[in-house]
Amino acid sequence: MPKKYHIKPKPTPNRFVPPRKYVIIEQDQYCLHCPTNACIKKDCPYDVYTQRRFDSAELRDIIDYFCKGCFRCIQGCKNNALSRTLNPEYLVLGDEYWTPEIITSAYNQSETGKIPVSGAGYGGPFTGEGFDSMWTDMSEIVRPTRDGIHGREYIATNIDLGKKLSLLEFDNEGGLISEPPPLIDLPMPIIFNPLPFGVLNQEVALAMAKSAKILDTFMIINESKLSRQLIPYQNHLIPLTNKVIEDKISGFRMVEFFDCNDVLALIEAARAINPKIVTLIRLRLDNGVVARVLELTKGGAEVIHLCADEKGKELDATNPQRDKTRFIKEIIREVHLSLIEQSLRDKVTLIVSGGIADSSHLAKAILSGVDGAAIDLPLLVALECRLCRNCKEGLPCPVKLETVDAEWAAQRMVNLMNAWHSQLIEVMGAMGIREARRLRGEFGRVMNFTDLEEECWK
Ligand code: SF4
Ligand code: SF4
Repeated sequence: MPKKYHIKPKPTPNRFVPPRKYVIIEQDQYCLHCPTNACIKKDCPYDVYTQRRFDSAELRDIIDYFCKGCFRCIQGCKNNALSRTLNPEYLVLGDEYWTPEIITSAYNQSETGKIPVSGAGYGGPFTGEGFDSMWTDMSEIVRPTRDGIHGREYIATNIDLGKKLSLLEFDNEGGLISEPPPLIDLPMPIIFNPLPFGVLNQEVALAMAKSAKILDTFMIINESKLSRQLIPYQNHLIPLTNKVIEDKISGFRMVEFFDCNDVLALIEAARAINPKIVTLIRLRLDNGVVARVLELTKGGAEVIHLCADEKGKELDATNPQRDKTRFIKEIIREVHLSLIEQSLRDKVTLIVSGGIADSSHLAKAILSGVDGAAIDLPLLVALECRLCRNCKEGLPCPVKLETVDAEWAAQRMVNLMNAWHSQLIEVMGAMGIREARRLRGEFGRVMNFTDLEEECWK
């Protein structure tokens, strides 16, 4: 049995105090100024009032960072001078898709490398838009799996990048005469996509390359951004280009081409230079995607990278037949089923990017029919990005991303990926699936809220 894939997380503290959901409000006008030994603050079980300090970088009291929200002080104050309220700084994080919960949970995972624990149960909501309308069948969770899945039991998160032969041919002596196409074994179903915005300096690029190497995965990088500093990470880089440049082909294991009319000719030219290279085609996820995937697969494409927008929506929703822009899970399913209908599914690997905001989205995208995902914004959030998009407007970055150190940043990304990897194993263990390859398109283990609602109320 192959060695288990292990990622080594390391506690890597935040550089800035992350906004907490609630803040403590102390209303001095109600304070009775009880003697210190009678003030309820001394009873805080987490010693928050002693630990609190003024953060000179952020010019504020960081009491909320330590508070665990037990309400002991609020309920115990004799004159109701203490209260808690929603933090406006927390509420403005991200947007309706990249919610404050997703962002702050990623900060936590990047700091500790551990699976987030939400505490006393989940309070809902139980359905919503996009991936939130998709539930996974966790009936196998009744087995005592915890020690098993992280210990004795083998749950493989590997996927293959490339196409597979549908038939093997042997000579009269039983020797294999079929030439297998190049295939890359990826230990977890994630590669890194170029960041769509953020402070894209050399340290951030170096951090992404370092973490790709540590995780034994790949980072897609625009060929114009390939610098000498990144050469030691060449084995884990995928140049993104629209032409065949010899030195961007010969020294790399993979290359990604933008989709264009002669993309299949570009692939042939790349193979002529480096027969071992695995090629990806970067395709816009729009109304014509199904037909284009079928055409490219029949033409010999090995890996197709479907790119949706940041919120997982199709990029071009001009089709008058559709009243709503579709979400990736529906489109992926359509692409996957069309390939199956034409017996082409194993001839191509599908990767999706856009809208993969947490580990559950990764599992649900694979269940919808892709082999893996290319992620970008979660890596930026691992570096404490607030997704405020100030950088897009040329405004200062609130977390001074331009000053990050590559070692710190790489470890934050590794920690986040470790937490996602552990959660993927948890989900697969609970579903009774032992291989990420078998998770692909496993609709039988999925419940869609819209289908259930229709079935129930039609
Ligand atoms: S709410 Fe609980 S944890 Fe927070 S400061 Fe008050 S006593 Fe401490
Ligand atoms: S915190 Fe805001 S300004 Fe800084 S990188 Fe993120 S989106 Fe850009």
